[in-house]
Amino acid sequence: MIFRHATDRVALTASNWIHTGVLVLNASYEALDEIGADRAVVLVTSGAAESIADHEPYFPIRSKDLEIALPETIRLLRYVYIEHTVLVHDESRATLAGVLRRDNHRCGYCANWARTVDHIRPRSRGGPNTWSNLVACCAPCNSAKADRTPEEAGMRLLWQPKAPDHLAKRQRRVWKQLATT
Ligand SMILES: [Zn+2]
Repeated sequence: MIFRHATDRVALTASNWIHTGVLVLNASYEALDEIGADRAVVLVTSGAAESIADHEPYFPIRSKDLEIALPETIRLLRYVYIEHTVLVHDESRATLAGVLRRDNHRCGYCANWARTVDHIRPRSRGGPNTWSNLVACCAPCNSAKADRTPEEAGMRLLWQPKAPDHLAKRQRRVWKQLATT
């Protein structure tokens, strides 16, 4: 997955920093979600959250009377109860944009540039819009596969689509940081 973080490496400017994703941890240090940096800054400046890791390199956010570093990870100061059903898993609902981002726009059948997604089990046979049933797919593969399963079409998936695990990866990093401080 060479391209995964390509968009994170864009140099920050006064106009694009709000598109940075900031990881939000519960008061218990469990990863909850990724939110826009503008919302994260509001949580920090209002005292609802603290920054536990700043964005690198340092990027200042200035308002009338204070300057804070753009955070990379924040922690809510009050525990928020989250039902497990909202957490992302293989059978939860995925969006077209989310699937393309997860697969870095690589077609799941030939690895070429993809701008659409394929229902692995076709929609006409009740294939759901879930992380495990959707894969990025280029136009030629999409029309070759048509209304069939990969087996019926004689096509093979290059990987098994799953829920994106970027939160899980970052969560492991948080546990590791905590263990060494
Ligand atoms: Zn393809």
